[in-house]
Amino acid sequence: MKILIKEIMTVLPDQRKKFAVHECNVYIEDDIIKSVIETEKKKDTRAPFSDKTADKVINGKNKLLLPGLINAHTHIYMNFMRCCGDDLAFNDWLFKRIYPIEDKMTDTDAYWGTQLGLLEMIESGTTGFIDMNLNMDPCGEAIRKAGLRGIISRGLVGEGPEDEGAIRRIKETMEAREKYLENDLIEVCMGPHASYSCEEKLQHYIADLAMEYNMKVNVHLSESRKEVEDCKNKYGVSPIALAERTGLFANRTIAAHCVHIDDADLDILAKNKVTVATNPVSNMKLGNGVAPVPKMLKKRINVALGTDGAASNNTLNMFHELSVVTLIHKGVNEEAQCVSAKEGLFMMTMAGAKAMGKEYEIGSVEDGKKADLIILNTDTASFMPRNDYISALAYSCNGSEVETVIVNGRIIMENREVLTLDKERIFFENEKIMNRIIKK
Ligand SMILES: [Zn+2]
Repeated sequence: MKILIKEIMTVLPDQRKKFAVHECNVYIEDDIIKSVIETEKKKDTRAPFSDKTADKVINGKNKLLLPGLINAHTHIYMNFMRCCGDDLAFNDWLFKRIYPIEDKMTDTDAYWGTQLGLLEMIESGTTGFIDMNLNMDPCGEAIRKAGLRGIISRGLVGEGPEDEGAIRRIKETMEAREKYLENDLIEVCMGPHASYSCEEKLQHYIADLAMEYNMKVNVHLSESRKEVEDCKNKYGVSPIALAERTGLFANRTIAAHCVHIDDADLDILAKNKVTVATNPVSNMKLGNGVAPVPKMLKKRINVALGTDGAASNNTLNMFHELSVVTLIHKGVNEEAQCVSAKEGLFMMTMAGAKAMGKEYEIGSVEDGKKADLIILNTDTASFMPRNDYISALAYSCNGSEVETVIVNGRIIMENREVLTLDKERIFFENEKIMNRIIKK
């Protein structure tokens, strides 16, 4: 399909990988952005097609075009657990509230929970993500149906290669890898859960497999103070040093949280080119603290932005996360320049693309990249008087401005109607799950 998005204010990357906003004509052919032409600079002589030859023309008046947002750390299936374990300490939340619900969760529950999460992501402009789940088949199927771009992992817990449960979960990972090998949008990676749930021997085993099959690694590291203390007591090193020791950083790795880390940990992350997926809302909500993001940025660590699951956030709305990540470090460091709106936007677009290993394919509005794009309505109270579009994204928008979502050249949401999912059925099924396993 040929789509022309006409005379639209567009967030463009400049040479310093910051952003600029110019009015452009943007042409999409099938899954690719064919050309992005600034209207004030030159006449549209390079245009590959016009109003007449395009299959669809989108009028860009009072709209803003952005690369699709990338949620670098989430557990989409958890959406059915929203608001069911709030205001609890991390260990009580996880062990007393979440794990018992997950014990009762069926494949069907995970399927509908994932659909609810995907619906929320689309409505707030997310086109790509890195997910960890417990049920690869139903979660993968929901993602395929929704049409988003994702890297999915089965949470891997256990003791070592002699642990039958651990081997079964790894087998589920490898079967899913096989299933999606030819899929354009879904990739499978290894998901060692955390140092407290995935022991050293198992980390080694997973790292070897990740290397052998060229798979990325998605892991939680140093989320809570207790996790770091327990790891040091058990293994003599921090969770980050342990992950380096077991080989988890040998391939491309996304480490979620990294809240309680010291300078040595920062050096390990930088040296191994690990992407940190920072989740400021979840870290605050579970009382875990604030990650040293400004220090990470100084060390040139790739810092991407994630929401974590809806049981600990409680939303997958990346605009909410952007607002928090651009405010909290200013407050904590008493430094107003800390994590600017542009840096925050970079985290959830280009840094997210790099986390997914797709920095040359997605993450910016540029010729030749995949057409993962979102269009926002700027004729809203939250944008007016349109002094600075990028500041508005961070400090005054809420995600409801997202009108159109395009993934891989396919329109997934148009005029706020999600075209790939059945909203009423999703709401119905999620309320049913809640009544069965949460309210009881
Ligand atoms: Zn997580």
